[in-house]
Amino acid sequence: MCRHLAYLGLAMPLAELLLTPGNGLLTQSWAPRRQRYGTVNADGFGVGWYAPGDPVPARYRRSMPMWADRTFADVARVTSSGAVLAAVRSATPGMSPEESAAAPYAHGPWLFSHNGRVEGWPHAVEALAASLPASRLLALEAQADSALLWALVLERLAAGDSAGDALVRVVQDVSAVTPGRLNFLLTDGTAIAATAAGDTLFWRSGPGSVVVASEPIDDDPGWQEVPDNCLLTATASRVAVRPMSNLTKEQVAP
Ligand code: GLN
Repeated sequence: MCRHLAYLGLAMPLAELLLTPGNGLLTQSWAPRRQRYGTVNADGFGVGWYAPGDPVPARYRRSMPMWADRTFADVARVTSSGAVLAAVRSATPGMSPEESAAAPYAHGPWLFSHNGRVEGWPHAVEALAASLPASRLLALEAQADSALLWALVLERLAAGDSAGDALVRVVQDVSAVTPGRLNFLLTDGTAIAATAAGDTLFWRSGPGSVVVASEPIDDDPGWQEVPDNCLLTATASRVAVRPMSNLTKEQVAP
């Protein structure tokens, strides 16, 4: 399934983060090393990034393979950011092949990506979809499981959940009705929340920076794997990993 990555730290050219590393997203689009499902990630890609002083990220998305887009290579060379979320996509059969289904999904300050699939789509999640306000369903960005998952996450964020709790809640709600692989990545440009739920997830921190990715983008020995069924939360200076069995106390429904 897809591969995704988020970065927080000093501003760096998008090319240095995504294209140059030996196993960066560009390489992962045709030769991922740790992918458990699928072979290549050629059904589109997307990059979201934040510019200083603007809380709303910019997005560049295409339905073509990352390696085929010369324009992105050019833009990425001269575009720098200190907060990035990017993904390369291997579309699940039956999901839209369009650019609109290429992560990151976005709303306000948020960027979101899903690596995985919802089994039994769409019937298995009919009741969950019906729990959403009609306006959220009508505003779905794409005809894809990821788009519905994003709508469910947004609904939790709107209800006041923290980023981490919103992801955990949606993993739990979906897992209660159907099997799925639910690796999520969410950022507002200042913090990252990510779930490991059925596929690989790694992180590496440096002085004042953190990269969270489906798989290591290079051979640095500092990469650490997130165990399955865990939530990772991170800022540029701090990373925490905890099991997903519990929501934080404040968020547990009475
Ligand atoms: N199911 C999602 C899609 O089709 C994610 C795919 C993936 O992780 N490969 O876009």
